[in-house]
Amino acid sequence: MLSFWNSRWATEARLSGLFPRLFRLEVEKDAAIRERVVVTTTSNRLSGNWTRLPSRRTSRELDNLNNLIENYEFTVQGGDTCFWKIAHTGIFTIRSLSLVIDNQLIEEDPRLFETLRNNLVPKKLEIFVWRARQKRLPVMKELDKRGIDLNSVRCPLCDDDLETVDHSLIFCKCAMDVWDRVFDWWGFGSMANFSIDELFRGNGPTSASTLGKKIWQAVEWVCAYLI
Ligand SMILES: [Zn+2]
Repeated sequence: MLSFWNSRWATEARLSGLFPRLFRLEVEKDAAIRERVVVTTTSNRLSGNWTRLPSRRTSRELDNLNNLIENYEFTVQGGDTCFWKIAHTGIFTIRSLSLVIDNQLIEEDPRLFETLRNNLVPKKLEIFVWRARQKRLPVMKELDKRGIDLNSVRCPLCDDDLETVDHSLIFCKCAMDVWDRVFDWWGFGSMANFSIDELFRGNGPTSASTLGKKIWQAVEWVCAYLI
């Protein structure tokens, strides 16, 4: 039995990974395809079972998923069994789906797609920074979004909040302790609330020289990496 969310059937990626917000709202994470899709000879319809109604942000995912399901070529046999073609030729191609997803991400924050560079640090740090800014680090919340079964998505260090990329690198009290000391060392006073992106841009004080800013950015990147 193919899983609607966790088998690779409609696209090369699992639907749980393509539509993480919806997947979180799914009541039965391992529902079969036939439990989530109603196929008729004229059209297909998604038959969702959500823990609560999708919010505004989630409804964009819902539109995309409906679009995918409606345009997917199923073959109906015996009234209630559906077969699918892995290399389907429906209107909705993988390319069009990835375009939709890319557009959605770009719509959210195009700045995250720029690569930040700093030649004072090794390449692997630049890659780490790129992944962190796009929330592609293996923290509990991200693993959970990608359909990995976990006992808890809370931060294992402080247990105060969900372990997101922002939490583990900035807001966790363990991270805050480190940042307070680093800011103190550079004489910036204590750190104000900021985002991962601001952190990695590492602008520093406006009076600093270009080299000073670059060194400060390198210090921030190394600290974040070590955290
Ligand atoms: Zn924490």
